[in-house]
This record gives sequence, C-alpha cells and structure tokens, in this order.
Amino acid sequence: MTLARHVISSVTTTEIRYDYLRTIGRNSFLGSHGSGGSTTAYVVETDRGATGWGLPLYDADPGPLVGRKLAELIDPDRGVIDAAAEFLDYPLHDLAARILDVPVYEMLGAAGSPRVRCYSGGIYLDDLDGGLDAIRANLAQDHAFGFRDFKLKIGRGHRWMDSHDGLRRDIEVTRLTRELYPDAGILVDGNDGFSVNTLFEYLDGVADCDLYWIEEPFAERRPDLEALHEYLQKLPHRPKVADGEYDPNVEHVLQLARDGLVDVALMDVTGHGLTAWRRTMPDLSAEASPHAWGQPLKTLYAAHLAAGLGNIPIVEGVPGPGFYTLEDGHVVLSDEPGFGLTLP
Ligand SMILES: [Mg+2]
Repeated sequence: MTLARHVISSVTTTEIRYDYLRTIGRNSFLGSHGSGGSTTAYVVETDRGATGWGLPLYDADPGPLVGRKLAELIDPDRGVIDAAAEFLDYPLHDLAARILDVPVYEMLGAAGSPRVRCYSGGIYLDDLDGGLDAIRANLAQDHAFGFRDFKLKIGRGHRWMDSHDGLRRDIEVTRLTRELYPDAGILVDGNDGFSVNTLFEYLDGVADCDLYWIEEPFAERRPDLEALHEYLQKLPHRPKVADGEYDPNVEHVLQLARDGLVDVALMDVTGHGLTAWRRTMPDLSAEASPHAWGQPLKTLYAAHLAAGLGNIPIVEGVPGPGFYTLEDGHVVLSDEPGFGLTLP
C-alpha cells in the first residue's frame, strides 16, 4: 500500500492530558513548572480510513489540506514536502508510517537502536521549596520510575539565591547526586544563568563528579564557549557541552559544532521539527539530543529520532506516565506502526 492512493479527508484537533510524576519546581529563571497540563493534538484522516495523530509544530488552519493527496504533503524518505503542511510534521509522519505499516523510526532509516538511553529531565530546584530532602526524594522517584541518569538544574544564584550561596548549593546538590548514584550519568543545565567565572567556580567544585554534559551555562557566545572549551581540556573526563535549546540560531549552532565548541545540539523536538531534524542531522558535526521538556509525548518523539536518525546517544525524559516505556534507563520503542501510540 503506498501513500499515493490516500487523500486527506479530515483534520481535527483534540486535547490530550499529561501528568508529571510530581509538581516540578523552579529552574534558574522560571517559577514552578506545575504538575502537568493539556495540549492540542491534530488528527489526520484519509479517504481510505487511515488515521495519524500527533503534536503540531505550531497551530495553523488545516482547512486547505483537506482534499489534498497525501503523497503531495509527505515523502517517507524526506518528511513533509509542502510548507502548508509543515505544522503537521508529527501527525503526517505517524499517518504515513501507519499506512506503510512500519514504526516511524524505521521510516527515518533505523540508524540507531530502538532501545534509547534516556535521562530524567525532572530534577529542578525543588530544594528551594523543600530542602535537600526534596532533591533526594525526586531522584528516588525518578529512579523508581526507571531512570538511571539525571539532569540537574543549576544556577540557583542567578535569581533565587545570593550568588555565593546559590553556587554552593549547586555544588552540594551535584555532589549529593553523585554520592547517592555512583553509576548515574549526571547532566547539568544552567538555563543561561551563569557567567563564565561562576561556571568555572562551579566546575572546580564538582571536578570529581564526572559530569556527562553541561547544558546552556550561558547564552552561546563564541568567546565564552572558547573559554569553556579551554577550561575543559584540563579535565581527565571532559563533559560534553550541549546548547541550542533556547531560541536557537540554527546556523550559528551548526557552526559552533563544526568548530568543536558545542558537542551536542539541542534544537527542540517540535520547535525545530522532525523534517528539519532529518535535514539537519547530515550537516551536524556534533551529536544531537532534541530538547523534549514539557510533555512526555515529546520524549517518545525524541526516542524515535534517536532510533531513526542515529547520532543521538541519549534523550531527555519528561517524567510522566502513559507515553513511553522506560526500562532500566532506556526508552524501549515498540515495533507497532507509526509512533506506536493510540490517541489517549
Ligand atoms: Mg535546558
């Protein structure tokens, strides 16, 4: 069965609900992230009874797409090929893969394993509200959920604490995590809340913690990243530098990657998009890990990108039930067609 015989018969929207494992607190500059929410998904149907669904890249009027031939909107080898359908990137990939009866990651080339390493992205600055016990409890909860690697939000001194005390607490939380979970990959994320000097003080304080990556310590200015690069050369285990999540200039990030200043490109699952990632990946001279925070469904999407395109050694887990299967620190993708998920 090919896509050529399918014509879009309807595009509708539906609200889907998602929950975090707990209320998620502050990062270096934003207040509480809440306990979940609801989001709009788009459902695309064809005249032959096929259905696909997923998150949009943005909201747009789907009306003009009704009556269009599916094969004019998406090419399984490249992704969405008509700008008017770009916002339906994920629903159309789901639909096309269901019609072709393959998982999306197979349609993307199956360049990676369908068992995808996945860290908890949910360790926020909850000590500000509940002390270090809150950090211990959150780590334990995410470990029990199936995570084995953790990303710690840092940058308490940016706006919530006095800069000296905030830095000390960042160090304390990192050291505590290493002590409690000696085998975990520890990632840290400053949400652009550090100066170069404060970051170096932090890194001095956690020199024996063997960090896996440092994410967005500051806005991606070349001289700052050069200084960081130089600093990291002295370390026996050099953490990766991850950037490109917040309001990225993609060309700038790709150039920083070429120059060895960014090791992991983070452009968002839906902000950048699946078709854009299919185009970007061959040009990327670093690794990738499409940012997935916000909804557990984006973790599933990131895992398909990893299994499909390769070059994504670890993905961000949004701790919450119902959208992906986590087993010993890995998202395990099913071989069901599309994204393998029934509309909740
Ligand atoms: Mg981040």
